[in-house]
Amino acid sequence: MPPLQAAAFAVAISALAWRTGALRPGGAAAAAVIGACVLTVAGWPGGLVLLAFFLPASASSRLWPGPPSPLDPKDDQRDIWQVLANGAAPALALVAGGPGALLGFAAGLAAAAADTWATSIGAHSRTAPRHILTGATVSRGSSGGVTPLGTLGAAAGALLVALAAQPLVGWRGTATALGIGLAGMLLDSALGAAVQGRFHCDRCDRASEWRRHRCGGTTRPLGGYAWLNNDGVNALATAAATAAGWAAWAWCCSP
Ligand SMILES: [Zn+2]
Repeated sequence: MPPLQAAAFAVAISALAWRTGALRPGGAAAAAVIGACVLTVAGWPGGLVLLAFFLPASASSRLWPGPPSPLDPKDDQRDIWQVLANGAAPALALVAGGPGALLGFAAGLAAAAADTWATSIGAHSRTAPRHILTGATVSRGSSGGVTPLGTLGAAAGALLVALAAQPLVGWRGTATALGIGLAGMLLDSALGAAVQGRFHCDRCDRASEWRRHRCGGTTRPLGGYAWLNNDGVNALATAAATAAGWAAWAWCCSP
C-alpha cells in the first residue's frame, strides 16, 4: 500500500481505538506508526494480522473482565510502552525485510497474543497459579505464575493470529508461528518469574510490580532487576519470537 494511504488508515484506526478507550494517547500514537509500517509493507493482509491481535486483546477485558488482581497491573487502556512491547519488534521485522520478514512478524504477534490472552483468560482460573520454574503455588496475578486455563487461552490467542497470517506465510508458516508464539509465552513467563523486578509496599502490605505503589508510597525491592518491568519482559519475549520466526523461515517454510 502507498505509504501516505497506509498512514491515513493507521491514524484513523488508532484514533478510533483512542476514542473508544482501548488506547491512551501515547499508545494510539505508537499504534499509528506501527500500523502505517505494517500496511505499507504487507497491505491489508498484514493489517488483518494486527487486528487479530489487537481486537480480541482489547475486547476480552471489557466483555469478560476478570476479578481484580491482588497486584497492581496497568488498567486495560494500553499505553505507549505496552503497544511498543507488543508491536515494535514485529513491525521492525517487516521494515527490515528479508525472506523471513513475514514469518517474523506473524510469530512475534502470535507470542504477544499468547501472553495477552494468558493474562486475561488466566485471570478467570479457579485454580491458583503455579510458578513456572519452581512449581510452587503463587498468588494470582504474579508474573511467572501459570494456570491450565491461562495456557489454553494463550494457545487460542496464538492460533488466531497464526491463522490470520496464513495468506502471508502459508500453512507451514502458520504452524511455525503458532509453535513460536507458545514458546514465546513460556519465555515471557520464565523471564517474569526469574528476572522481572518484584516489589513490596510496606504501607499497604501488598506485593507490587512497580517502584511506586498505587497508594503513592515507594515500594521495597524484593528481587529481580528493579529496572525490568512487565513491559520490558514482554518486549524481550516478543523480540525473541520475532527473531525466531525470521530465522525459521529459511529452513521450515520457504518454498
Ligand atoms: Zn501501597
